[in-house]
Amino acid sequence: MLFFKILVSGIVGGVVLFGWVMAVGFLFIGVETIAEYFGFDIDLSALIDYRITLGIGGILSVASFLFILWKLRNWGSKKFCAWCGEKSGLTKEKEYEGNYVWAYPNKDGSPDKRVEDNYEEANYFTFWRCKKCSALTKFQHNMDKNPSSSVKVIQVMLSEDGEGERTVKDWAEKGVHSVSGVRE
Ligand SMILES: [Zn+2]
Repeated sequence: MLFFKILVSGIVGGVVLFGWVMAVGFLFIGVETIAEYFGFDIDLSALIDYRITLGIGGILSVASFLFILWKLRNWGSKKFCAWCGEKSGLTKEKEYEGNYVWAYPNKDGSPDKRVEDNYEEANYFTFWRCKKCSALTKFQHNMDKNPSSSVKVIQVMLSEDGEGERTVKDWAEKGVHSVSGVRE
């Protein structure tokens, strides 16, 4: 996903640079044509160093690359308000770690000794307040050795109702079973 975002941003950056060079080229030709009409013979490309033109184009290109990359940061992410569906304007209100369990447990929950590099992992839970509808949404992050809010979201659940009509549903990644249907 990150590769795809960089690719899209890179294409936009390239198009911006190309567009800039074309625009400056046409501007120069236009100005020179008008100057010629009034009897002046000027050569803008000789007056203005091409490095300045390319430098400005480069800055614009990099800026648009970063801007698009930033714009796409939530793309493909399942972080949304479970009441109105907004992806932006969510503020984290609380978070906690789930219970640690062994990656390879025995039936009674003790570590499976046959697995050499067995390790403990836990879910992570974060709660987000929506600026638009004021609902509270709970995200369940995937099991991880180092649980945190940056781990992929695998479940989105409404925790507190928002204002107006609810327009979206809870979401869970395929194969993820709800830990509890009870709202907190
Ligand atoms: Zn909302």
